[in-house]
Amino acid sequence: MAYDFDLYVIGAGSGGVRAARFAAGFGAKVAVAESRYLGGTCVNVGCVPKKLLVYGAHFSEDFEQASGFGWSLDEAQFDWATLIANKDREINRLNGIYRNLLVSSGVTLHEGHAKIVDPHQVEINGERFTAKNILIATGGWPQIPEIPGHEHAISSNQAFFLKELPKRVLVVGGGYIAVEFAGIFHGLGAQTTLLYRGELFLRGFDGSVRKHLQEELTKRGMDLQFNADIERIDKQADGSLKVTLKDGRQLEADCVFYATGRRPMLDNLGLENTGVKLDRKGFVEVDELYQTAEPSILALGDVIGRVQLTPVALAEGMAVARRLFKPEQYRPVDYKMIPTAVFSLPNIGTVGLTEEEAREAGHEVQVFESRFRPMKLTLTECQERTLMKLVVDARTDKVLGCHMVGPDAGEIVQGLAIALKAGATKRHFDETIGVHPTAAEEFVTMRTPLAG
Ligand code: FAD
Ligand code: NDP
Repeated sequence: MAYDFDLYVIGAGSGGVRAARFAAGFGAKVAVAESRYLGGTCVNVGCVPKKLLVYGAHFSEDFEQASGFGWSLDEAQFDWATLIANKDREINRLNGIYRNLLVSSGVTLHEGHAKIVDPHQVEINGERFTAKNILIATGGWPQIPEIPGHEHAISSNQAFFLKELPKRVLVVGGGYIAVEFAGIFHGLGAQTTLLYRGELFLRGFDGSVRKHLQEELTKRGMDLQFNADIERIDKQADGSLKVTLKDGRQLEADCVFYATGRRPMLDNLGLENTGVKLDRKGFVEVDELYQTAEPSILALGDVIGRVQLTPVALAEGMAVARRLFKPEQYRPVDYKMIPTAVFSLPNIGTVGLTEEEAREAGHEVQVFESRFRPMKLTLTECQERTLMKLVVDARTDKVLGCHMVGPDAGEIVQGLAIALKAGATKRHFDETIGVHPTAAEEFVTMRTPLAG
């Protein structure tokens, strides 16, 4: 049977665009549908605008520290509306770039909500198109627990478009988004409280990293409340929010921001017209080749709920395009040693096993740790300290994990990830000459393991 397209991609986000462009480049006839914004979550309400707001928030520290270097400034003023307008302009520019990328690579772009009507057919804007393969790359959506008054809370989707910076913000959650946005609000001058239901935020990250960030955020005056969860939110006559915690305490805020994870975006996608199966958590179930239970339908990125990071969605998009249209170049995605950064202030950068994971996996673990005051701060009053940590297998000398909390941690860890991927040993680290004077050189000068 002749199909309209070889591949119909639903979702022009990180993974969908990558798969569509490369498939078209390999000679396939490709269409991509997008219902909201070209570039998806990362470009519009994720990585990119978030990083711009983090840069914005960092200026408050820069201004404070500048006097130690002889600069004097009049009292610094911040205007949220300017930051948001400039951010929006940049995102519009990126949307245009994504449009050009797709069109110039020969992909047909359909703007509208796509629904699967049968395993080889998609409906969009009242028209139907057939395809040999359909790729679900519809991403995720913020999930807010349905407590009484949840309608008064916002998620990251709205936070990027607030009309003004709230004076008092309660951030709920202890993952990437909560920690990053708490840093943004706090850095921009809002009175910020982070509420997390567990003992210590960033579950799954290395224990030293979690503790170190807790100490640094506390030093900066952020209100961290652990073992705390919201029972209800009530709007008061003056528009402010009264928040009642499960332990009975009450807090007041102008904005309650939930960052409690993301669900797969499957709304009105028509999966009931297919044999696609969902996993226990409701994400689309795929095998190692991103194949769903319906032979003509594939899925990747956040909607499969593996690792919700843009570079992972990109790698999966590339793998799908190659497998379908350039099988001789196919290489599976390697999910080991994925580096990641949390753009909290200060940043976290991490790759490989945490100390806890290494011990649990049965390694005889040696830990190297260094804590120091960054050189840039020595002429200032700022008491921030950087943490660097290496987790090493004592038997093989292999470096199992690198972890950092401090300025530019994400930038530094990217290079270390290559070393770990190549199987670097502690001896390789020791024999590497440092770049002086940098913070990063500390990773190659740690000589004495922690006792025990
Ligand atoms: P998405 O990028 O979400 O794209 C899915 C697209 O599908 C969307 O454009 C959507 O509109 C469209 N769509 C959905 N349903 C339909 C339909 N039926 N018809 C047509 N179109 C449809 N990752 C990082 O690596 N680094 C970061 O710093 C980072 N920061 C983040 C910050 C925030 C606040 C958030 C929310 C996420 C962040 N992420 C970050 C995660 C990253 O954004 C995602 O992992 C990535 O965008 C996933 O790509 P995707 O292609 O799977 O989905
Ligand atoms: P995460 O899964 O990272 O964190 C969710 C947090 O919310 C956890 O602390 C979790 O607690 C808590 N939580 C979950 N459900 C509830 C509930 N019902 N009540 C109270 N707390 C709850 O999700 P995020 O929303 O922060 O981010 C989604 C994903 O996006 C990330 O996992 C990451 O993959 C990606 N991302 C990446 C970024 C980056 O690369 N820098 C930045 C932002 C997002 P508990 O730990 O107890 O389960």
